[in-house]
Amino acid sequence: MEINKELKEIVDLTSKLIQYPTVNPPATNMQDAATFMYEMLSRHGIDAKLKEYAKGWPVVYAEAGNKRSKKSLLLTGHFDVVPPGDEKSWKYGPYEGKLEGNKIYGRGASDMKAGIAIMLYLMKELAEKVDYKLIFAAVSDEETGGKNCSKHLAEEIMPDFVLIGEPSGPNSLIIGEKGLMQVKLICKGRPAHGSLPSFGINAIEKLIEDLLSLSKINDLKIEIPYDLKDVIKNTEEELLKEHGEKIKNFKDVERISFNIGIIKGGIKVNVVADYCEAEVDMRVPPGIKIEDAIDYAKKLVKNSEFNILQSSQPNYTSPNNVYIKKFVDSVKRIAGQANTLLIPGATDGRYFRSKNIPVLIYGPGKLNTPHTYNEYVEIEDIEKCYNVLKYYLMNVFNKLDEKN
Ligand SMILES: [Zn+2]
Repeated sequence: MEINKELKEIVDLTSKLIQYPTVNPPATNMQDAATFMYEMLSRHGIDAKLKEYAKGWPVVYAEAGNKRSKKSLLLTGHFDVVPPGDEKSWKYGPYEGKLEGNKIYGRGASDMKAGIAIMLYLMKELAEKVDYKLIFAAVSDEETGGKNCSKHLAEEIMPDFVLIGEPSGPNSLIIGEKGLMQVKLICKGRPAHGSLPSFGINAIEKLIEDLLSLSKINDLKIEIPYDLKDVIKNTEEELLKEHGEKIKNFKDVERISFNIGIIKGGIKVNVVADYCEAEVDMRVPPGIKIEDAIDYAKKLVKNSEFNILQSSQPNYTSPNNVYIKKFVDSVKRIAGQANTLLIPGATDGRYFRSKNIPVLIYGPGKLNTPHTYNEYVEIEDIEKCYNVLKYYLMNVFNKLDEKN
């Protein structure tokens, strides 16, 4: 594949970033990767610094463009990656950043070192060209919830618009995400000999009762906000298309999803189990507050202790928001078709949306390649996303009021 100078530089940068094994958890090589980005920006005359809101969790922060402008836009993303799993299952080493044909392979290729590489490149390319404050922030703890970086960043700065370069693919824009409700149920019983179960209380059976009851949360009909109805329908169609197989009655996005991830209990076949626990992952669509979803879930559980492991509000930026509409126009103009989606998984976008800042997720890579073996990103995706982002950043504040 023939590639021009700009694209070559972004491809090399992606590959270079993959070579830092910034695995989280545990946090490894974060400082080295952060220093590399900081030095690259500084070398090009960009006002960059390394921040650390929490010890051991660096944030690369930079400002370019017109720093006195009242208008500002944040380009952000994470440079931590999930562990590679069994390294022998990879075609190339997960940290080689191997370029083969039209793809770059490696852990983080799509999630989201290619996205970071595009943003770094745009910072230096557009530093003197835009008449607003263009901010860049690369964070190191998205994969473990963002509490050490993006949460603080969203307290500190108030950009007009936030663009996160997580993988969406060049023709898709992600405007929202489901809420998170991860719980641990703990059930206690009374031990007895396995041959005389009537003398004991079986914690496993009692927990199973609760799990079956809790699984009914999937049937709760949720009134999806009007401006999101098409987006959710569209998302379910897209996910099914990528998945390839037909699934009857697929409603994982519009309903509260239910998955038992872990179950542990019992000590021996001939003992009545006096302890059992399970961890359940439920994802909550916009249309219900997380507090109400939790209350509803609690009522379904009768025998077990109900503990929240992690929770977050479902959140989205309206497809009618001016910055989103303008982005849709840019995608159509530069890349062709534009799909607006809401994703089931959580991103750091929620911290900014909770401050009423509009957020859009847009970056190279497929929705279903992150966190898999042989993770890759296609160079064509990088090129298209780069072109769209460049066009958008050059025009974002032009005639914004006139058009809407
Ligand atoms: Zn990610």
